[in-house]
Amino acid sequence: MTETRRHRRWRQALILGAVLAVVAGVVIGTWFRPGATTQTLPAPSSPPPVATAPPEIAAPAKTVPTAPVAAPAEPAPNTDATPAALAVPPDASDLSRLRARDLTIPVHGFSASQLSDNYTQGRAGGALHEALDIMAPRGTPVLAIEDGRIAKLFLSKAGGITLYQFDPSGEFAYYYAHLDAYAEGIAEGGTLRKGQILGYVGSSGNALVAAPHLHFAIYKLGPEKQWWRGTPLNPFLVWRDARP
Ligand SMILES: [Zn+2]
Repeated sequence: MTETRRHRRWRQALILGAVLAVVAGVVIGTWFRPGATTQTLPAPSSPPPVATAPPEIAAPAKTVPTAPVAAPAEPAPNTDATPAALAVPPDASDLSRLRARDLTIPVHGFSASQLSDNYTQGRAGGALHEALDIMAPRGTPVLAIEDGRIAKLFLSKAGGITLYQFDPSGEFAYYYAHLDAYAEGIAEGGTLRKGQILGYVGSSGNALVAAPHLHFAIYKLGPEKQWWRGTPLNPFLVWRDARP
């Protein structure tokens, strides 16, 4: 019986030794396997920086461009002599209010009785003139018809040297075209006084050199107050019933 007990102890010792050897082998194996250390330890630590870095770089890149983009887009000015018509129809009260302002006739030395209505004359391309032409010798002073701000000094193919003035309320734009030159001190954004010389009669743009004149128009501005957009009114009617 003692032999069998000895055998059992030996067997138990052998089993225990085998188990320990397997455990030790696994532990040693994981420590010294070259792939094990590089796969288990750096794997969780190194990929995250790669994954988190792009969002950190991308985030400021998104906020930086928004600031310059926020700058308002500069309007593309029309190359025509007259602003594009806008669907803001002038009513009878517009004309009567303009008449009540006793506006200065824009060419020096002219009275109302010397003006002629050429508003509905045809122009190239089937368009209507929609302005008042005042024929005068080259160099005759052109006067501001009312106080107001110089909205734009614009050189256009058809209108030549032009000036857009806003009235004090910003409701109307006054357009002076075919100028020979601006008067001294005239600058965009500056203010004009009623009767002030803003330029001189000429034939710049598409006017005949032999027929210098002032092309003058009044536009009712839309809510955006854009100098290049408005609905024309007949300026002749503003002065027609005025006292000479
Ligand atoms: Zn004209």
